[in-house]
Amino acid sequence: MEFFSKYATATATATATAATTVIVKEAATETTIATATPKAKEQLQSEDWHTYGSEFQRCLQDLHQDRPGAFALCAEERAHRVCRICPIPRDLLPLLRLPLRFVLVRDEHLGCSVPVSDIPTIAEEVNQYWKQAGITFTPLLAPVEVSYPGGDVHGRSVVDLKTAISSLCRGDDGRMTEKTLRRRLFLEHIMKDPHFDPHTAFNVWILDFIGQESQGVCIDRGSHSIIIGQRSNKGYPEVTVRSLPCLSKTIAHELGHALGLDHPGGGRFSDGDPLCGYRRNLMTGGVDKRGGGGYYLEDWQIVLTRDTALSTGMCHDSNCSSFLGGCGFEKRY
Ligand SMILES: [Zn+2]
Repeated sequence: MEFFSKYATATATATATAATTVIVKEAATETTIATATPKAKEQLQSEDWHTYGSEFQRCLQDLHQDRPGAFALCAEERAHRVCRICPIPRDLLPLLRLPLRFVLVRDEHLGCSVPVSDIPTIAEEVNQYWKQAGITFTPLLAPVEVSYPGGDVHGRSVVDLKTAISSLCRGDDGRMTEKTLRRRLFLEHIMKDPHFDPHTAFNVWILDFIGQESQGVCIDRGSHSIIIGQRSNKGYPEVTVRSLPCLSKTIAHELGHALGLDHPGGGRFSDGDPLCGYRRNLMTGGVDKRGGGGYYLEDWQIVLTRDTALSTGMCHDSNCSSFLGGCGFEKRY
């Protein structure tokens, strides 16, 4: 525990950035890091990461030994408990690359007008949010454009589907209602039998409008598929075309769901800690006028999402598997 008992104490009140400085100093002086060649620096960081990974695993084992039945704790609770002792050294996170497929629906009634040329900008902005977790989404070479010749979409007309989507709304408590109908409309019609294998990448379907007061929905965690409306009336007096930064923010949030995160709300862990410290969190929703919610991911969220990312089998980065794989945090769907 030597390595991280010092580390945890030093970082109890420090920011994650400061924490990383501490961990680097443990393994090598700042001078060594500063003067190292890029390759040597990478090697030093990799060694530090492996040391951290070992300590993380030990904390996890301790948790299970100290508390019989710890396996029954939810993944969020277990990740939080370990991260309290072993805060994530964010500057050392090996990069996880996940393939991202944009699917642009082109249809007079259902489709969007987002040009293909805007996709790199959107992907870049999405990655700004995920950088803190050491995750980057790599768009496939070309977005897919989907249309419905003849207006029939697996037994329902595009006009009929548009009407049905317009009827999807939120309840008085702000929660989405008719989830089953929503899933049916999209998964059994609009997104059914695409001419690509949806399991080979995370999928971002962009349509015109996806329901009243809705900006985005993670419609199917099993295939890591999200739907985004180019236009929305959430926070607007009428249905409005959203800007690229707003679309990107929603995509980043929905990809968090696709990576296994839920809305933290105002919940607390069993030790009384709030699920989302004191920073505005990426998984907290919001409207465009107020910046669309937060940006930050807590350490336990980073653990969960990286574990889920690895469990998809879509990551082929050689340096990523030393830990946060097989910890059992990931949610499988
Ligand atoms: Zn959400």
